[in-house]
Amino acid sequence: MLSETPAGVYCSAGGFYIDPWLPVEHALITHAHGDHARPGSAAYLCADASVALLRRRFGADALIESLPYGRRITRGAITVSFHPAGHVLGSAQVRLEGPDGVWVLSGDYKRDDDPTCAAFEPVPCDTFITESTFGLPIYRWDPSSAVIADILQWWDSNRDAGKSSVLFCYTIGKAQRLLAELARVTDRPAHAHGMMLPMIEAYREAGVTMLPVRPATEQPRGTSFAGELVLAPLSARGTPWMRRLGNLSDAFASGLMRVRGVRRQRSFDRGFVLSDHADWPALLRTIEETGARRVLATHGHAEPLARFLGEQGLQSGTIRTAWEGEPSGD
Ligand SMILES: [Zn+2]
Ligand SMILES: [Zn+2]
Repeated sequence: MLSETPAGVYCSAGGFYIDPWLPVEHALITHAHGDHARPGSAAYLCADASVALLRRRFGADALIESLPYGRRITRGAITVSFHPAGHVLGSAQVRLEGPDGVWVLSGDYKRDDDPTCAAFEPVPCDTFITESTFGLPIYRWDPSSAVIADILQWWDSNRDAGKSSVLFCYTIGKAQRLLAELARVTDRPAHAHGMMLPMIEAYREAGVTMLPVRPATEQPRGTSFAGELVLAPLSARGTPWMRRLGNLSDAFASGLMRVRGVRRQRSFDRGFVLSDHADWPALLRTIEETGARRVLATHGHAEPLARFLGEQGLQSGTIRTAWEGEPSGD
């Protein structure tokens, strides 16, 4: 049903690609992260809630069509539908039904509660293509409420010390999830680097409740950020922009922060383990819930996960894609 090609994962019976990394005629897009949603294709199809984000990424001229979650359409010999993946706003699994049975490609997904997007929905299938960003038993997440409490405590202690709190995170998904989860425990405004504002705005337009956000780029000279929380993309780290933040403590919010070596190597003052991907137990639970007899893992720790599943008696393998687990830019 799906095959690896130089342009991406291709469905010949339906005449479309899923998250292609080269421009193609027909691209189905699982979500708006840069490693999945690449510009230049002639036509895009995505879930409804993804349109606003793709529009900001691809510009006004791109041809973007969308479907509500669960609605089925026909492309060639294939019935196509999108189902919530719980990863970021609009993120979808793609379900394909055709001569080879039912296939589901997960895209990126998580099972934890996230106030910014629809919750993951297990979709029964014969073949499940799962992401495996964190496909090792060391990856287990704490409840996000505990992580948010830690972040608030860090912010408070920096306030007491007259420092700003610079929290690096991804521009799509993580920033908004942090702002939405923090809004449950405080009403203090946050600041955000200018690069983050359009996507925060898109989430607000979609009805997501978040902390009030002020731009951290267009403040008058001499504005003090002491005591403030500032969200910024990793690409802003070490740039002259940082100087205006004064005395600061910095942190990174990512599943990668589970690994001590990564924390040390990147030398953030703090690492908050908060991921928009499934951890090891959630990957295994999800695979089981799909009822799939065949599972293909892609990106991250695909090989160890496939090997583990093989030992459990499933048909398993890997599929090579250009998707990254945790995108380094956005
Ligand atoms: Zn993603
Ligand atoms: Zn990805």
